Amino acid sequence: MNPYGYEGPPVFGYETDTPLRRAAFICVHTSPLAALGQQDAGGMNVYVRDLACQLARLGLEVDIFTRRTDLHSPELTLICPGVRVINVTAGPSRPIDKTEIFPFLPDFAAEAALFSLRHGVRYDVIHSHYWLSGWAAHLLRRYWDTPFVQMFHTTAHMKNAVAGSGDREPALRLQIERRLIQLSDSLIAANPAERADLIWRQHTATDKVCTVPPGVDLDLFYPRDRSDARRRLGLEADAQIVLFVGRVDPIKGIDTLLHAVRHLRASSEPLPTVVFVGGELDEQGQPTGALAAIANDAAALGVADRFQFVGSQPQDRLPLFYAAADVVAVPSRYESFGLVAVEAMASGTPVVASSAGGLTFTVEDGVAGLLVPPQQPSALAAALQRVLSDDTLRANLSEGALQCASRFAWPAVATSMLHIYERLAEGHRANLCCDEEIYA
Ligand code: UDP
Repeated sequence: MNPYGYEGPPVFGYETDTPLRRAAFICVHTSPLAALGQQDAGGMNVYVRDLACQLARLGLEVDIFTRRTDLHSPELTLICPGVRVINVTAGPSRPIDKTEIFPFLPDFAAEAALFSLRHGVRYDVIHSHYWLSGWAAHLLRRYWDTPFVQMFHTTAHMKNAVAGSGDREPALRLQIERRLIQLSDSLIAANPAERADLIWRQHTATDKVCTVPPGVDLDLFYPRDRSDARRRLGLEADAQIVLFVGRVDPIKGIDTLLHAVRHLRASSEPLPTVVFVGGELDEQGQPTGALAAIANDAAALGVADRFQFVGSQPQDRLPLFYAAADVVAVPSRYESFGLVAVEAMASGTPVVASSAGGLTFTVEDGVAGLLVPPQQPSALAAALQRVLSDDTLRANLSEGALQCASRFAWPAVATSMLHIYERLAEGHRANLCCDEEIYA
């Protein structure tokens, strides 16, 4: 009898002396190394990177498997101590639309399994992100026989509920998500509404779904001097500044923001400037691609002069933007969590957000910011004007925002996740969730 309780044969080159030693994250369609704020790279990439690095600090090594999109990038990249990003060749080694990835998932799973054989590593738990990765995790289980935790980030079901007629999700995604609900060993919901949706509308067993919100990096996002931030960003010292940060995607409600600014033009003096972070600029610094369409819409509505498009920014520059802003607008039609809102709050900047999805839990209405019904420009305009014109309200919300954001500090969030992995790696399928609910 060995002292650690492990009785089995060596697996892939080493004997486990603890049930939970290494995790595989599957993140097929986008890499934690991708430039943020463009195309599909946003909150999920940040979440995967930060969660992995926090888990590694708690002693769990993580390999993040992603699809290779470039012939020349290395197979392995260390992104923080204990965390490697692994490029897996499956399909063409160039960026392809995520709607084309599904047929390459069997290759992805086989190549990931070969990697683990070649390198002699064994994974005790798989955490898959988004439905495509969930399917890859299911296929990988055939090789690894490892329990897997699925996180949808958003489900097609919830996305379709707020989508315009042209943005509906394909039937395949709906179908696979339904299968993954049955096939996975545990599902992580980012907020209580998502958990309720999985249980009540999608008939998932209650003890399988745990609510673990994403965390926020409080070492990066904290209050900083506003005048200094404006000076460093070349923004006017005394302008009223509304900040938007996000991918250019219909779900972000950018149309609502444009119309809200048109309302403000009719009713408010002085007029705020909207600093818009996200999307692409061309070599002349002009909006291009999807961002050009937004700039055109702003011109058509007569508010182009109120928008300053600065393109996507590296995340370590965002604290300056949050500090420079009077208020951050998050007009999304839906957010699973809304990292931008929580980063703003952690920076002590009030938020005006849609009462949609996770935002209703992360932004406490009247305490950390104001919530408004989604897709209602006049309501958004009124709330922005209220915050911009009332110094006392802004100061109170700033205080409340800091307190609300502190609930999402990474150590607590990562510990909850670790608890779930530990239970699964030990072979449990019940009582997976941590009792200390962050939303309680
Ligand atoms: N982000 C960034 N640079 C940008 C735009 C966004 O670093 O130009 C980051 C931002 O800090 C946040 C994430 O991307 O962590 C966006 O997350 P959110 O949950 O708000 O939106 P999602 O992309 O998940 O829809």
